[in-house]
Amino acid sequence: MQLFDVAIVGGGPAGSSCAAFCAAASLRTVVLDREKFPREKVCGDCLNPSCWPVLERLELAGRVRHLPHSKLFSVEFIAIDGRKVIVDLPLGSDCEISVKRSLFDDLLLRRARELGVDVHEQTTVTGLSRNDHWKIETASGQTFHARMLIAADGRNSTVAHLCNLLPRPERERVALQAHVPRPRDFDDRIVLQFLPEGYSGQAPVNDTQLNLCLVGTPPTISTLRNWAERQFDLPANQSWRTITPMTRSSVPSAHGNLFFIGDAARVVEPFTGEGIYYALRSGELAANAIAKILRGDDRNPVLREFGRAYAQMYRGRLWINRLSRAAVLRPQLGSFFVHTARVNPSILKLLTAKIVSSTNRHFGRSEA
Ligand SMILES: Cc1cc2nc3c(=O)[nH]c(=O)nc-3n(C[C@H](O)[C@H](O)[C@H](O)COP(=O)(O)OP(=O)(O)OC[C@H]3O[C@@H](n4cnc5c(N)ncnc54)[C@H](O)[C@@H]3O)c2cc1C
Repeated sequence: MQLFDVAIVGGGPAGSSCAAFCAAASLRTVVLDREKFPREKVCGDCLNPSCWPVLERLELAGRVRHLPHSKLFSVEFIAIDGRKVIVDLPLGSDCEISVKRSLFDDLLLRRARELGVDVHEQTTVTGLSRNDHWKIETASGQTFHARMLIAADGRNSTVAHLCNLLPRPERERVALQAHVPRPRDFDDRIVLQFLPEGYSGQAPVNDTQLNLCLVGTPPTISTLRNWAERQFDLPANQSWRTITPMTRSSVPSAHGNLFFIGDAARVVEPFTGEGIYYALRSGELAANAIAKILRGDDRNPVLREFGRAYAQMYRGRLWINRLSRAAVLRPQLGSFFVHTARVNPSILKLLTAKIVSSTNRHFGRSEA
């Protein structure tokens, strides 16, 4: 029987980042993911500038910049009545970019493999048990053993479900996403558009493709899809990826020898496009804490330090997320914001600057 130090369920940004940092700390690490990479994922594909410091520590920033991507120079908010307000984004090498998740996630997982992580794709975790270590069972009948378990398996976390920790979704909404032909006049910007039935996010991911996301409720999503077909001249048989829920209560991140990271721990409203950053950074923080615990440091102070660093990651940002959730749940309210910002753009500029600034650099280098 091979006993790993760390088993990670999920090889998205949270799982891959955690795995890479664990392997860099000489921990025997295994990642199990049900998909075969590269795979697409329902996402707006936008990388918040806060990601860059973590990517630098993973020695991946250069390689991410070499992936096909678009640099995003502004955000255009569009109210229900079509009125617009445009807010500039920071420029420079650490600017916001959009890159397809198939490319980005594959690069991260390959980096973990390069550092010595044992990666098993097309491996779906279905069962868990624990005595002096974790025993992890998969759909194909394989068994893995590890001292520490990390749940990085996204918003509908199987690990949380198996541990009876998965919260009920707060308000049932659904997202659709597709890569569609980039309209000729669509320049390098993000569009966030309020619609009577929900909202749409749009961002070019390269010279020819546009990421198109629609968020609504199950009864309204087909109206949004019809709107998108007309707006972007899409065929009626356009294929869409889908995901739900958009929000739910959080799962506490540390439970003894079990950690939850990324979306498995906390699902944030996608409107502000920060989920990948939280996934990468929480993966790093968990890896730091686990390395200390496994090399014999006193567990309680390590977990307290982890808890502080984890809370710090969200500090000053969650209220913006709540505000954006209020705006998208009532698109009339969102439109009111756009109208107000046309008269006084400073509020929207301030909120946008808070979301896309890389101020996380100052704590980005701290150890958990
Ligand atoms: C509509 C929408 C738009 C968004 N736009 C943005 C954006 O522009 N920018 C941004 O930063 N964030 C955005 N997000 C959020 C972002 O997509 C997530 O926060 C991010 O993917 C979280 O990463 P993760 O690694 O925690 O989980 P995921 O990326 O969900 O990865 C989880 C992995 O776990 C695997 N898995 C699941 N169950 C099992 C199992 N039982 N066994 C084995 N493997 C399993 C899955 O195959 C998957 O690879 C958006 C979200 C939505 C819904």
